[in-house]
Amino acid sequence: MEINTLNITKKIMNKYNIKANKKLGQNFLIDDNILKNIIISSNIAQNDLVIEIGPGLGNLSEYILNNVNFAILIEIDKNMEKILNDRLKNYNNYLLLNDDILKINIDELIENIEIKNNKKYENIKVVANLPYYITTPIIFKLLQDSKRINEIIIMVQKEVAERIIAKPKSKEYGILTLMVDYLADANIEFIVPNSSFIPAPDVTSAVIKLTKNKKYKVNSEEIFFKLIHSAFAQRRKKISNSLESTNFMNMNKKEIEELLIKNNVNLNARAEEIDINKYVEIVNSI
Ligand code: SAM
Repeated sequence: MEINTLNITKKIMNKYNIKANKKLGQNFLIDDNILKNIIISSNIAQNDLVIEIGPGLGNLSEYILNNVNFAILIEIDKNMEKILNDRLKNYNNYLLLNDDILKINIDELIENIEIKNNKKYENIKVVANLPYYITTPIIFKLLQDSKRINEIIIMVQKEVAERIIAKPKSKEYGILTLMVDYLADANIEFIVPNSSFIPAPDVTSAVIKLTKNKKYKVNSEEIFFKLIHSAFAQRRKKISNSLESTNFMNMNKKEIEELLIKNNVNLNARAEEIDINKYVEIVNSI
């Protein structure tokens, strides 16, 4: 069945007198080709469990629910509850939660759904057009806090997508690049113009796919995370100075320099010139 999302969106916005809430990052996706491509990129099988963050008016939800046996929709805006239940009245394969994604214990929620549905889910995917004001905390939460989610297919600002896949020695390369690389494989699936949304955001967007994969072996994750945060705290400075001024591991200047020399890092190098393998080596030499 062909869906005309632009028409449906206009009708719903008229009927319920909806004005997109800017503070909540509401930009509704109205381009059916993009919606279809998100579903193709997520490669959902009927038996997967899908979690959608911010279903809004249900534009992406409808595509998701046509392709999976069960989905959890988490929406912070209480006004959307009636609209969504109305729009999705022909579907009985979803649970709608009026909640803040950043406050939910996701793995506990998944476990409750498994008990309710009497089914253990192997593949758990997040498919979402994210509210951009909290993109990074959401990505970290999904990658770090949940042991159950395997794959994340999300719409983000193009600029964030570029930071995620950045290479050393570029201005985009930083904490987000290293954190995501440490926890997952990342790919930009396709670029989305701002004309695909109502209202149109100021920025171009991109759909990215993050597949959980811890491919680097560090002796201590805690030290790895500390190291990259300290190294990039003052990215214009030499890494030795940045580590010193952020009091990395309570080391003094001499100890920091010894650590860097031991790992063949030039004392004049800046954090953005160092690749992830070197950060891993440094951690494992402590
Ligand atoms: N999925 C819809 C679409 O594609 O048309 C709407 C996407 S819109 C970019 C982001 C949605 O996330 C909005 O509906 C907004 O209300 C919701 N949202 C914002 N902050 C949220 C939060 N902390 N937790 C859950 N949903 C949130």
